[in-house]
Amino acid sequence: MAVEREIAGIRCGEVLAELSDYLDGELAPARRTQVDAHLLGCDACERFGSRFSAALRAIRQSGSGPSGDEPGVYERLGARLHQAVKEGPGT
Ligand SMILES: [Zn+2]
Repeated sequence: MAVEREIAGIRCGEVLAELSDYLDGELAPARRTQVDAHLLGCDACERFGSRFSAALRAIRQSGSGPSGDEPGVYERLGARLHQAVKEGPGT
């Protein structure tokens, strides 16, 4: 059921692949604008993006370590993200 749409010159798979950098503010401004525009125009990515960002925020705010920075958590999130990219957004 994966429907890969291209909105604002960027495809769903690309948006999902860049979502983590996007949320970290590590994307180049032009790329970020593109992702923003895609999220605005794409229900599936917008839904997935808000779920993903909520999860990411929750993990960071839980701050289980002194730095609140657990590489293992990001690896698991990354694995989930790749799974989601494979399955496509909005499944
Ligand atoms: Zn999309």
